[in-house]
Amino acid sequence: AKELGRNRASRFEAGLRYQALRHLDVEQALRRGLEHGELAVHYQPVIDVSTGRLHGAEALLRWNRPGIGPVPPDQFIPLAEETGFIVPLGEWVLGEALHQLGEWKGRNLLPSGFRMAVNLSPQQLGAALLTSVERAIGDNDLSPAELSLEITETTLMSERSNMSEAVHALASLGANLSIDDFGTGYSSLAHLRHLPVHQLKVDRSFVSGTEAGSRDAALIAAVCGLAQEFGLSCVAEGVESAEELQLVADLGCGYAQGFHIGRPTSAAVFAARWMGDQAG
Ligand code: C2E
Ligand code: CA
Ligand code: CA
Ligand code: CA
Repeated sequence: AKELGRNRASRFEAGLRYQALRHLDVEQALRRGLEHGELAVHYQPVIDVSTGRLHGAEALLRWNRPGIGPVPPDQFIPLAEETGFIVPLGEWVLGEALHQLGEWKGRNLLPSGFRMAVNLSPQQLGAALLTSVERAIGDNDLSPAELSLEITETTLMSERSNMSEAVHALASLGANLSIDDFGTGYSSLAHLRHLPVHQLKVDRSFVSGTEAGSRDAALIAAVCGLAQEFGLSCVAEGVESAEELQLVADLGCGYAQGFHIGRPTSAAVFAARWMGDQAG
């Protein structure tokens, strides 16, 4: 039995070593990819449900690996979070997105009140973040109110004390804070009282494929009601059909995002489709 245990242990270790090596490979490829221009930021529209007009965009990272093709973010962001590479990578996304926003703004392409949403990983919520956010805003002649930072519930509810410091510092700068994937994490609604949050994003698992009168529909209505009580805006994610758009409108969501409205695309395609840009 001891022998068996030892074999099993060494097989387990070999498995871990293999995984670690594979992770190292992917991380190296990701670092090189960033240097060699394989990474890009795509933009997905967010609309005002009552007018159907463009309200903002969410910046979403894309990695186009030569010889392999597009790698979805779910396959490399968790890894980058593990290794810490998400910090420089996330800073790059922030820089790209705000540079793009500044460019659109400079050419008068933006509808009034337009907001650029950027996703933040928990590892990014440190002292350095405030500096890079301030720099990216200053470099591109933007105001903090034009930026929305998306943080998941789980990140916000974490016990790390510097987390809430970072969040408060960002809010006092004037940037908007949004809780992403709302409803999927370990939410303590009481936290909403203390956190300087501006927006809730209803996770797409509650929205996609949902019908009127269902439990998910009741949940969407409850989240939107909660947002309203707290004076926050509410975005429905994952709107995949005209029926779903109508449904989330009826349920009280002010804003919507999803494949039915528009898929994430390159900046040029986004500007042509949503801001009538003829240049691209
Ligand atoms: P997320 O922040 O919840 O972003 C929304 C995801 O839902 C995007 O997936 C988007 O393409 C997808 N989506 C939007 N509308 C629909 C729809 O109607 N139906 C379906 N099925 N999907 C829809 P994507 O781009 O693959 O990103 C996945 C996740 O990766 C993001 O989820 C976010 O957590 C993470 N991510 C992406 N870019 C970044 C980044 O720059 N930094 C960080 N930290 N995370 C990022
Ligand atoms: Ca997001
Ligand atoms: Ca989300
Ligand atoms: Ca997510």
